[in-house]
Amino acid sequence: MSKLPSVSSNIKKIVDPKFSLDNETLKEVMVKFEREIKKGLKRSTHSSAETKCFVTFVQDLPNGTERGKFLALDLGGTNFRVLLIHLKGEEDYEFQSKIFAIPQNIMTGLGVELFDHIAKCLAEFAIEMNIQHEVLPLGFTFSFPCRQNGLTEGLLIKWTKGFNCKGVVNQNVVELLEDALKRRNDIKILICAILNDTTGTLMSCAWKHHDCKIGVILGTGSNACYLERTTNAELFEKQNKFDDEKVVINTEWGAFGDFGSLDFITTCYDKEVDHHSLNPGNQIFEKMLSGMYLGELVRLVLVHLTSQGHLFNGQISKQLSTQHQFFTKFVSEIETEAEDSINVVRKVLIDLGINEPSDEDCVNVRYVCESVTRRSAHLVATALATLILRMGDPDITIGVDGSVYRHHPKFDDLMTKKVKELIPSNYRFKFVLSEDGSGRGAALVAAVASRQVQYTNS
Ligand code: BGC
Ligand code: MG
Repeated sequence: MSKLPSVSSNIKKIVDPKFSLDNETLKEVMVKFEREIKKGLKRSTHSSAETKCFVTFVQDLPNGTERGKFLALDLGGTNFRVLLIHLKGEEDYEFQSKIFAIPQNIMTGLGVELFDHIAKCLAEFAIEMNIQHEVLPLGFTFSFPCRQNGLTEGLLIKWTKGFNCKGVVNQNVVELLEDALKRRNDIKILICAILNDTTGTLMSCAWKHHDCKIGVILGTGSNACYLERTTNAELFEKQNKFDDEKVVINTEWGAFGDFGSLDFITTCYDKEVDHHSLNPGNQIFEKMLSGMYLGELVRLVLVHLTSQGHLFNGQISKQLSTQHQFFTKFVSEIETEAEDSINVVRKVLIDLGINEPSDEDCVNVRYVCESVTRRSAHLVATALATLILRMGDPDITIGVDGSVYRHHPKFDDLMTKKVKELIPSNYRFKFVLSEDGSGRGAALVAAVASRQVQYTNS
């Protein structure tokens, strides 16, 4: 095989200044992120904070004794799932689940129709599992920013990702689901908890790793939760707060940058992604790094480079000029470590309608993917380093889930290396792929919640 050409200098000249962030810049981002976290936690500054740091009301992590049968709903990523989970003891569990599609017209239609659809899927599943006559506790993983007033109340603050249903913002999502179930009146369900997917991820990981204190999602969207001292969580209303007591805080870091903190690093491509999204001006950090947007960022860079004559002989294809047609999974495929990776790139490009991409094109396209991925991983590392330092715990486990983390061959490595560079060397941390946070984690939150009300159903 002949030697591959190197990345063209014209491409580097355009891409590098926009996508490679040095540690000095990343440390500036850390300072801003820490500032927003503090603002989110404080009553007097909460409303002006980019990262809202919602109180989740989850305080007790699982201790391994959780038992019983639970239902779980998982809404907010690529799929909507219903699960029946049987927790049998320390790390021993069984589950059955079913994936249901949520049609596009429901994702951006009326809220009532969304909840009727969810209730219908839940009823179908209960009948299929032959549990329609039992009253099972349910944990609802609802992966959107919610203000909670307890474990069973979550007011939707805004939709994110691909959702935008009317009549749900400012409503209690648990009540909307209960109303939909009442309208059907064919199954009985006890909704014990509503939780964010990051909380589920943390819980699921903490079941086995008792030093797990951060839960992260790097999927369609991105977010993290962590254990904070109750005394710092000013919006956590509680009679007595004890010195060592903790509560899980949902940072909603996807909204970092929404009031301008990240303007000093956002690129023309970030602005374009935002401008054409369902929620312009919102979720700026998320749009720089999560699965819903990575492919689109790459696509916009490729379109720009082609228009400047640096790729594909200046000829773009119809697919490549269409929004969202460069899927994030292509980015993961292109960055494979396999030896014939150049042919993987070529195949993706041909499938996207580029005739006979040259070796040079392939090498350059891969460089663009790597640059966008690296910035994404470094930004996540920056936020995580900030949380680790804030918690001040020199030894922690971080539970992670999401399609980008799972499927991208280099993300974990890029992120780990950068966190190490950003924190003192006496701090130790490790990432653990969290197993099914949105399902098992939801069951665990429901279990811990029902333990609190002395509910038993084993
Ligand atoms: C939502 C978060 C969620 C994250 C990952 C974001 O768009 O605002 O609540 O945790 O996506 O699913
Ligand atoms: Mg999910």
